[in-house]
Amino acid sequence: MEIRNVMEDAVKTVVEEIFATEEKERRMGYCTCDQCRLDVACYVLNRVKPEYIVSSRGLAYSEKEGLDKVQRRADVISLIQEGWAKVSHTPRDTSDHLVSKAPSSDHDGPVYNFPTVMGRVFDGRTFAPLGEGVVRILVGGAEVEMLDPNWQNPFVLAGATGGTFIFWPKPLPAKEGEGERKYTFEIKVEVPGLETLSHYIEMDLSPERTARLDFSLQRVHKIPDLYLFPAGQSEDD
Ligand SMILES: [Zn+2]
Repeated sequence: MEIRNVMEDAVKTVVEEIFATEEKERRMGYCTCDQCRLDVACYVLNRVKPEYIVSSRGLAYSEKEGLDKVQRRADVISLIQEGWAKVSHTPRDTSDHLVSKAPSSDHDGPVYNFPTVMGRVFDGRTFAPLGEGVVRILVGGAEVEMLDPNWQNPFVLAGATGGTFIFWPKPLPAKEGEGERKYTFEIKVEVPGLETLSHYIEMDLSPERTARLDFSLQRVHKIPDLYLFPAGQSEDD
């Protein structure tokens, strides 16, 4: 059984629409890079009430109930504008908001494409999102290369985005005729004063003909919320 937050899909869809319009028309003058898109989506999701459903019934439900209610859609749009005004004018130190630079692949031929990997980290004592520390994505203990320099690894947690981190691993070449491969990623969270946490995710991936370089919020692998505690304390204490 999988539990989904209907609002997540709904908000992502509206963010994609509004960013696509801005990319074409350039009316607001806001940054439309991937990092800003994610920051805006997180800003909104941290401010709307989640609506959980069991995923098997999800589709029917979300089409009927999702953002059909006009007022709710209007609220989301207004939150997007509010969040966008904030993130667009306070660029992160670590991201240079390279809008025009399209990611490139130096490889021709079949590749393993990875989804973006997204999660949130909280202080286990207060349930407050963590606003400092670093999150890394590793395979076999080594840092995974990101698709382009707009994506950080290690990811530096910043207060404004509510403990959210996100990675986009660079596609890896597959040999001709190679089949499904299992990848195990380690998400390692290090925050001063709290015990380091490692969370493992496995993905079975089949090679695809070309590298996917177009960013979409819809291809996000969401990992469960992670809680950090001071050294020596566990969730059972
Ligand atoms: Zn940006």
